[in-house]
Amino acid sequence: MIVENSRLIDLLSEEQKTDLSSLEKQFAHHLEYTIGKSKYTIKNEDIYKALGHTVRDFLIDRLNITNERYRKEDPKKIFYFSLEFLMGRTLMNALINLGLYDLVKQMIGGFGFKLEEVLEFEMDAGLGNGGLGRLAACFLDSMATLNIPGFGYGIRYDYGIFNQIIANGAQVEMPDHWDADGVPYEVIRPDVTYSVGFFGYTETKVSGKGKLQHYWIPDETVLASAHDCPIPGFNTSTVNYLRLWTAKSSEEFNLDYFNHGDYMKAVQDKSISENISKVLYPNDTTEQGKLLRLKQQYFMVCASLQDIIQNHKQTHSGLENLSDKIAIQLNDTHPSIGIAELMRILIDLEDWSWEKAWDLTIRIFSYTNHTVLPEALETWKVSLIEKLLPRHLEIIYEINHRFLESIRSSGKLSDFEIGEVSIIAEGAEKRIRMANLAVVGSNKVNGVAALHSDLITKTIFRSFYKIFPEKFNNKTNGITPRRWLIQSNPGLSELICKKIGGSFATDLSRLRDLEKFVDDADFRNDWANVKQANKDNLAKLIKSDTGIVIDPASMIDVQVKRFHEYKRQLLNVLRVIALYRRIKENPNLQITSRTVIFGGKAAPGYYMAKLIIKLINNVAWMVNHDKDVDGRLKVVFLPNYRVSLAERIIPGTNLSEQISTAGTEASGTSNMKFMLNGALTIGTLDGANVEMLEEVGEENIYIFGLKTEEVFALKEKGYDPGDYIRKNEELHRVLLMIRENYFSMNEPGVFSPIYDSLFYTDSYLLAADFTAYDEMQRKIAQDFRNQDVWTKKAILNVARAGKFSTDRTIREYAEDIWKVPLLPMMEPKTKYKLA
Ligand SMILES: *Cc1c(COP(=O)(O)O)cnc(C)c1O
Repeated sequence: MIVENSRLIDLLSEEQKTDLSSLEKQFAHHLEYTIGKSKYTIKNEDIYKALGHTVRDFLIDRLNITNERYRKEDPKKIFYFSLEFLMGRTLMNALINLGLYDLVKQMIGGFGFKLEEVLEFEMDAGLGNGGLGRLAACFLDSMATLNIPGFGYGIRYDYGIFNQIIANGAQVEMPDHWDADGVPYEVIRPDVTYSVGFFGYTETKVSGKGKLQHYWIPDETVLASAHDCPIPGFNTSTVNYLRLWTAKSSEEFNLDYFNHGDYMKAVQDKSISENISKVLYPNDTTEQGKLLRLKQQYFMVCASLQDIIQNHKQTHSGLENLSDKIAIQLNDTHPSIGIAELMRILIDLEDWSWEKAWDLTIRIFSYTNHTVLPEALETWKVSLIEKLLPRHLEIIYEINHRFLESIRSSGKLSDFEIGEVSIIAEGAEKRIRMANLAVVGSNKVNGVAALHSDLITKTIFRSFYKIFPEKFNNKTNGITPRRWLIQSNPGLSELICKKIGGSFATDLSRLRDLEKFVDDADFRNDWANVKQANKDNLAKLIKSDTGIVIDPASMIDVQVKRFHEYKRQLLNVLRVIALYRRIKENPNLQITSRTVIFGGKAAPGYYMAKLIIKLINNVAWMVNHDKDVDGRLKVVFLPNYRVSLAERIIPGTNLSEQISTAGTEASGTSNMKFMLNGALTIGTLDGANVEMLEEVGEENIYIFGLKTEEVFALKEKGYDPGDYIRKNEELHRVLLMIRENYFSMNEPGVFSPIYDSLFYTDSYLLAADFTAYDEMQRKIAQDFRNQDVWTKKAILNVARAGKFSTDRTIREYAEDIWKVPLLPMMEPKTKYKLA
């Protein structure tokens, strides 16, 4: 029964809370009764928690208003399925989006605390690895801001991406128990719980009407229980949510064991099923094929589809119109088992025919591809799926059979090409290709930058493109300007607002209006002062996190991202070593002073990536302790790169390193964050860098190196890195320093694998690009000496970054893929004012 008690709502409406004295009362109430503190025992941490609960009340008010609206208007809803949401911190973002930031700052000040310090107590929700998970988080912000009924579905991992510490130069992984002290803003919904089956067997019976009826009898069931993170839009009353599932044992104890006196075994079984949501898999781009990972994927998808279908049935007579009312976006192939699951629901549980079920399914799903690297394409052993999800395997075989039949009869593909598009990879051990399942089962397939979307139609999905050209499209990634400009860089936001007003917050293309001030010397001076203040802050952070003292006037040169060979952090550090050598050879060398900063995590099992982290740390130690260097070069590795750290590094950066081998980085999004914060980019023609160049113009970005076609051609003709190394004397000497243990005197030989891989394989063509990279870095060093010209370029980068807002990306998804209109905005009670 639903309690219709409007008095509950009237007693404390949002209206009444939004003046200072009511806000204070509400906050004091949480401090005293929710947190349980008296004024004599309050600490900063308690202030954070009480504030979290206060903000949660506002979020829930608007969440209820929004849900009420969706109930009345019944718009089409979008569900973003992702195994990763890299949310970072929530509180400050919520204060800004709700329009409460200034009021709360004043209120907290009144209690004798500083808001900025209080907010530092929040742990990052690191429920993702890198760009893919952060994209999902930015999308949620934009969907709410654009008043799209868009919701995230994912897993509430007990442990997010590991915490990284550096010991003896090397990465050490520590558990990230992010929710240890509770998560004040989340809404726990024990009433929203579904059961998810695993293992067991299938049966087929002939029903009364002579129809085949399929049954799956799982032999393990686990409960999925919902936790909602409210997602407030910026300056709108829309609050959507991210629904994260946590695994609960379906029985408190296994009574069989319990009755036989094995109490401990009974409790253990309970914790084994709860393992499903225990920990995020820390692999970025590569998959391991582990059973628990497949369990996580199916767990997420099964609970989410039940939730969607149950909600749909509450307000509609059946599932006939489901594709008019919902769309599901698959963030990579990780949730693509959902295609088979929806088919199972429709056929086995709803008794639909195959044809009708398939017609609905392919209208509902769309798939976003995030990589062209073959090793990153997810496949599962048939034997594993057969064991865990026997009915799904039957369905996948049937999907494949019908698909291949139709392709064969169309005569469009050769036998070889038919083998390529098959969902089943034949071989010693048969495997299911999840990307092929996702393409076949989706309405639209998109890449994440123009170059990438084009590349997938020529490489991994070449044969699919021949048969379904209309399925393929591009949706260039973006970032939310609320977090990545307004929140992370208040100084710059305020300066921009003073010049062109605050409309850029929701229409980032308005930044173009800055172009006309580029010749205004006072403006440039203000701009340079903001950048310098951000650099000073970054210098303090570096001092407190690493003990290293840097020169805040030096060029801040930053490469922060996951460690992967294709991203070529090694190319950067080879250049650093070359620079160091030059200083040693010529102690009076006059060069532009630089601070080269690295940050990022390596997958725990990725040997080479971890070794590169160690090389960087060892080089940093040598360079920073060498008196001869004398202020011209510092090298910093900032441990535990994460969203909250990115927010502090990026505003203080002068030069952004986006130097992946052309054709390997699908889009990149940190490239956009840096651009929006007034850093200049050194980069290859890869991912979205290509579109950044298009927007900003070639005088304002430093592009170097081989292009995608040249990379392919070079590999085709047979690449020998030795040819390039022998031609560049300096590079050769740098490699010899590594081999001769210049940076590993206490551990001779540790870096030989780096030397060997460069000399004999060099899969990512570092040697081929080294000279061009170094020459471009020299030009940059020259350009940085003219600070005024540099500032002009920085202003133009910001002015021309408008395309890279996820507001633009989400509008394109809404129009081309989801076919949902944006709802008219409902005026909120409070709005954020930029200046
Ligand atoms: C934006 C972001 C990324 C993605 O960085 P790329 O350079 O695009 O790979 C990864 N991690 C964090 C914490 C981020 O904020």
